[in-house]
Amino acid sequence: MKFVDEFRDPAAAQRLLADIEQAAADQPPRKFMEVCGGHTHAIYRHGIEALLPDSIELIHGPGCPVCVIPMGRVDDAIAVAEADGVTLCCFGDMLRVPGGQSTLLEAKARGADVRIVYSPLDALALAERTPDRQVVFLAVGFETTAPSTAVTLVQARERNVLNFSVFCNHVTIVPPLKAILDSPGCDLDGFLGPGHVSTVIGTRPYRFVPEQYGRPLVTAGFEPVDILQAALMLLRQLADGRCTVENQYRRVVSGDGNRKALELLREVFVVRPHFEWRGLGFIAQSALGIAPEFSAWDAELRWEVPGVRVADPKACQCGEVLKGALRPWECKVFGTACTPETPIGTCMVSSEGACAAYYNYGRYSARTRLPVHAAS
Ligand code: SF4
Repeated sequence: MKFVDEFRDPAAAQRLLADIEQAAADQPPRKFMEVCGGHTHAIYRHGIEALLPDSIELIHGPGCPVCVIPMGRVDDAIAVAEADGVTLCCFGDMLRVPGGQSTLLEAKARGADVRIVYSPLDALALAERTPDRQVVFLAVGFETTAPSTAVTLVQARERNVLNFSVFCNHVTIVPPLKAILDSPGCDLDGFLGPGHVSTVIGTRPYRFVPEQYGRPLVTAGFEPVDILQAALMLLRQLADGRCTVENQYRRVVSGDGNRKALELLREVFVVRPHFEWRGLGFIAQSALGIAPEFSAWDAELRWEVPGVRVADPKACQCGEVLKGALRPWECKVFGTACTPETPIGTCMVSSEGACAAYYNYGRYSARTRLPVHAAS
């Protein structure tokens, strides 16, 4: 399959691993953060961490869109879903994200009309088919998914669909990166930049990483050869004393990003002054709200929500995992009280969550303290 097979070629991977071994041999131990949850899954699915030299540690970042939704926003979504006449539509992995009291799945079991959709346009179509219902789309995700919500809002306005609205929880990638770099004790040596987000925003927004924080960043694709090549590019920058933004994922990502999508985001959304991230607290200008021109489709203006901040359960260490300060298996409840069947934190729920990746693929390297729990 073009653009897949060549990036899974074992011979190419072996050559890259040999080059990585050589480049790493002359350097101190390195810690690279893969920002995107998609990378975390690719790394564990393909066993990449175990192939790398021991001196290279991959740290998981905050780029899982479901993982960063705080409990209070889940409670708000449940309050909307339980309002009279509402059908709440969301992506499947939001259903089991724990709120303060329950989940959307439990709200559905109690009688709320909660449905899974694969696109916000599906929710808009449902609103047109069911004019007697108020259809609310629960929007989550980074700049990757925000354009599809924006297109849907434009279409809702064009078609004057007034029984449709969006409960907007879109977030942006640059502010949490800054928050991680600003956190005390941050000892990261470089970043594997997110692939999907960068298709929209391009690579230019990451220039602050080398310019202000002195760390290299390489935007990477999601196949094994992509990730290995990006790790090698980071090592070579460090070996050469260079520090810049490089783009390994050039077959998809450009410097400027997708200008049409960015224009759409500017038309439909405004930057919120503050937004709470699970485990990371409030981060200024890190999320998108619906612009006043689209306020008729803003669910937060249409429905009363509790809007209460809910503290994470004491046992939950998702915040530390999202900041890269803790490896998933170091959380006290990993694999015992917290599993994909009974998640305590969000990182165990989403298909992009770091804890789910560790648990599902069961590939623990010699560096981890846990035994292999599943055949891989
Ligand atoms: S094991 Fe569960 S509670 Fe602990 S960090 Fe992972 S998701 Fe959060």
